[in-house]
Amino acid sequence: MSFLSLGLRPELVRAVSEKGYATPTPIQIQAIPLILEGRDLMGSAQTGTGKTAGFTLPILQRLDRSGRPAKGRRAIRALTVVPTRELAMQVHRSVEDYGKWLHLESAAVFGGVNINPQKKKLARGVDFLVATPGRLLDLVNQDSVDLSRIEILVLDEADRMLDMGFIRDIRKLLALLPRQKQTLLFSATFSEAIKQLAGGLLHSPALVEIGRRNGAVESVEQLIYPVEKGRKRELLSELIGTNNWRQVLVFGRTKHGANRLAKQLNTDGISATAIHGNKSQSARTQALAKFKAGKVQVLVATDIAARGLDIEQLPHVINFELPQVAEDYVHRIGRTGRAGRRGHAISLVCYEESGQLRDIERLIKREIPRQVVAGYAAELSRGAPKVNANKKPNKRRRRSGSRRRMAA
Ligand code: AMP
Repeated sequence: MSFLSLGLRPELVRAVSEKGYATPTPIQIQAIPLILEGRDLMGSAQTGTGKTAGFTLPILQRLDRSGRPAKGRRAIRALTVVPTRELAMQVHRSVEDYGKWLHLESAAVFGGVNINPQKKKLARGVDFLVATPGRLLDLVNQDSVDLSRIEILVLDEADRMLDMGFIRDIRKLLALLPRQKQTLLFSATFSEAIKQLAGGLLHSPALVEIGRRNGAVESVEQLIYPVEKGRKRELLSELIGTNNWRQVLVFGRTKHGANRLAKQLNTDGISATAIHGNKSQSARTQALAKFKAGKVQVLVATDIAARGLDIEQLPHVINFELPQVAEDYVHRIGRTGRAGRRGHAISLVCYEESGQLRDIERLIKREIPRQVVAGYAAELSRGAPKVNANKKPNKRRRRSGSRRRMAA
């Protein structure tokens, strides 16, 4: 199977081959022809499957074919809404890379940076806009963006947008878009809230499902290291140091904890930097660039900051703390094992996290193997390793955060 045989035009095929892609991934094989046909689509592809190219390539082709509006300047005809700035930048980079041989204009708008350059760019005319919901609404309110000519809408990582409390902003935005349009909705996990959103938005959507729903990426080797809470940092340094792991993404739960951990790792002689929502956009971009270039060995991130990070061939993901929401585990480990490569995801789990571990194992429907490091052995709560499919999941713990935010 080749990109050309999917019906993509030579300019796009040339751009992907310049990126080094030899063959399309399974989601690209499924999604590209459907999107080219103009179908609505609901995709449950996980991160790392080549999803971005899967929707960007056919959208570029449709935009190119429909040409510029007859009168006047360019209008925004494709809109991709994403949860975070990092993802906005990353999707926009893909749009630029894949569309480099077409004559289309694109832009990314997101918060945390000066709005004026974004306004100027929009005023010059854009065909394909990538945006986070909050900044896009600001631009709408300042009359700096016209969404009335949208032909194709993508909601990417929709589950995360709802988890982050963006549902109201999204509904406001949807009300501004033309009724007649092609809509694509991607989500790594499918909750009732997502189904509800999709129900009102998509018309006879084609379903594209790569990997099991709510399932963990198959190409990732997962391990649990039981350890006492107070000894996690020591074990983390030891694992990274003795195995000489070079590029490690470590997840912590809080901004403060992420900062502290990065500092402690540096004290242990392991170069580390933290990335979280309190840091300025330029500090986050800089930290990420250093990590990508191999100048720092460890990037400590919170869930929100890490969403959308695309680091090619990221070999190791470590959960320093388990996430409160089981689905976040799937997102986290999706940072490794991307585009079919092998990945390695380990979790340092203390007794107090036994319940979270139980929820995760129920969600992914498998027991994650335990690995004990000499000198660090610790108990997890009895019964924690058992995956009991008949027992009801702990709903309060799994989704309470998002419910609260959604209700707000
Ligand atoms: P995504 O799931 O869109 O975040 O993509 C994950 C990674 O796979 C990115 O680094 C892409 O550049 C890469 N990728 C996308 N499509 C292909 C392909 N057909 N062959 C090889 N790599 C790809």
